[in-house]
Amino acid sequence: MENLFDLSGKTAVITGGTGVLCSQMAIKLAACGVKAAVLGLDEDQGQLIARQIRDQGGQAIGLVADVLDKESLNVARDIVLSEFGSIDILINGAGGNKKEASCSADLDFFSLPQEALEWVFNLNFLGTILSCQVFGQPMVDQKKGSIINISSMASLRPLTNVLAYGGAKAAINNFTSWLAVHLNHNYSKDIRVNAIAPGFFLTKQNEFLLVDEETGQMTERGKRILDHTPMARFGTPEDLLGAVLYLASEASSFVNGTVIPIDGGFSAYAGV
Ligand code: NAD
Repeated sequence: MENLFDLSGKTAVITGGTGVLCSQMAIKLAACGVKAAVLGLDEDQGQLIARQIRDQGGQAIGLVADVLDKESLNVARDIVLSEFGSIDILINGAGGNKKEASCSADLDFFSLPQEALEWVFNLNFLGTILSCQVFGQPMVDQKKGSIINISSMASLRPLTNVLAYGGAKAAINNFTSWLAVHLNHNYSKDIRVNAIAPGFFLTKQNEFLLVDEETGQMTERGKRILDHTPMARFGTPEDLLGAVLYLASEASSFVNGTVIPIDGGFSAYAGV
């Protein structure tokens, strides 16, 4: 069993590796012997996480790259290849939501600004496509690799108010299946593309929905989410790590084009 999950000597690129959820993925992968390239917009944060990994005996570099700027991704790819020699695992974690792209008491559907809608669609969906174009190329050259997209519970069934983000993540699910088939048909039967769909994690991107800014108490929405989560808690970054190791490794050698919910049972529960 141990060998099934063996990742030693592999290289992973983690976009959004500077963030709350994906920094933990980078740290865990590195602890399993993976050379980790931590990509994000914030140089200091990338360096900090890479240093933390190196201090723990792992191998890592922090790189600034914008998933919406293909040139910066190309530069990052060349650095990763020259430092680490291959790209075996790609985690597309750069993503997020913003208040102005969701309906609220102050903002109705008809007034949602185009700029905010585009921001969310581009960051989550286009950013995932561009990253796969750039970091998928070495996988095609070496005819092997595992791509893990980060979707969301909002992609499987629409969540009230969360318009653009749910749509962008649903598009990621569609793209995950599409790319899995496309790469197998055209390039290699040994490249797999899957996604994980995290449920509700109390983090920066959604705390405006779950915690009342003024009182610091959980919102009615936050309480409803917990009522609909059989495991009755929000997720923690650590809850995602097992699925990431599984999808990155040979343990999932015949798993392709799927979206795995990691949601404490939220998507299984009909509410009655
Ligand atoms: P986060 O905001 O902590 O991390 C996102 C990271 O992406 C940040 O480090 C940011 O610098 C980086 N980033 C933003 N724009 C970028 C760009 N243009 N190019 C490169 N990097 C960029 O968010 P998180 O909560 O850790 O979420 C990580 C992923 O998980 C996201 O795709 C998010 O949509 C998804 N997700 C989060 C939750 C949740 O509850 N937090 C639930 C489901 C899915």
